[in-house]
Amino acid sequence: MKFLIGTLLWLMAVSYPQAQNILGLPGEVTQGGLYVGKVAPDSEVWFEGRKLRLSPEGHFVVGMNWKQGAMAKFKLIDAAGQVRHQRLGVKKQKYDVSHIDGLPPKMVTPPKKLLAKIAQDSARVRKARKTDSDRQEFRGDFIWPVRGRISGNFGNHRILNGTPKSPHGGMDIAAPKGTKIVAPLGGRVTMVSDLYYTGNTLILDHGLGVNTVFAHMDSVTVKTGQVIKQGDQIGTVGATGRATGPHLHWGLNWYNERLNPALVLDHGNE
Ligand SMILES: [Zn+2]
Repeated sequence: MKFLIGTLLWLMAVSYPQAQNILGLPGEVTQGGLYVGKVAPDSEVWFEGRKLRLSPEGHFVVGMNWKQGAMAKFKLIDAAGQVRHQRLGVKKQKYDVSHIDGLPPKMVTPPKKLLAKIAQDSARVRKARKTDSDRQEFRGDFIWPVRGRISGNFGNHRILNGTPKSPHGGMDIAAPKGTKIVAPLGGRVTMVSDLYYTGNTLILDHGLGVNTVFAHMDSVTVKTGQVIKQGDQIGTVGATGRATGPHLHWGLNWYNERLNPALVLDHGNE
């Protein structure tokens, strides 16, 4: 009987997801999504074996892997040590596979003499993304860094000249060279660098591991360490690095987890 009631309660929870739960998260999350929850500041929140950082008011951030399984498992430990479990259903995303052929071979398999530079580039990017500050801008609503046609979706797998590459880690927004790029949220500049693949690249920290990446920029108008407000200009659209035409590659991350920027944007007047 106990088992039956438990099952019924579980079924009800699945059929009627609550708008809010003990974590202040939505009843269902999406692969590649970024979420901000809120709990009592003196509690602990764990997501799949990882303790999450809490802001002084009890806010926390969690990012879903692009291939997150059907359930996201959380644990809340309150100040008295009481443990509560919360499972959220995960909505699957569809990703396209595209083949691009006829690229110059050196852009698909980089020449040996560039391997050290490429390794150095990714180490710099990883370090900037690891920034774990208590900035609070992550709580705001994102605005588009530049308006334009979406020319590449997050999660697309690209097969270049027959070689499978890692999935597209951001969204591409096509815009003419020189178009102004603005900060989608306020934050602090943690990296400005000219990288082999992504050209002029900028990373902004928005707090609690939330960071955004801007690539292929023609110009960067801010410096590392600078604190900027939402809507401030950070540079212009270009085609530097490995790009076939001018566009902004915009990435959203939770620490080193790549997330889908399209999910945090208002698509009202795209
Ligand atoms: Zn891109």
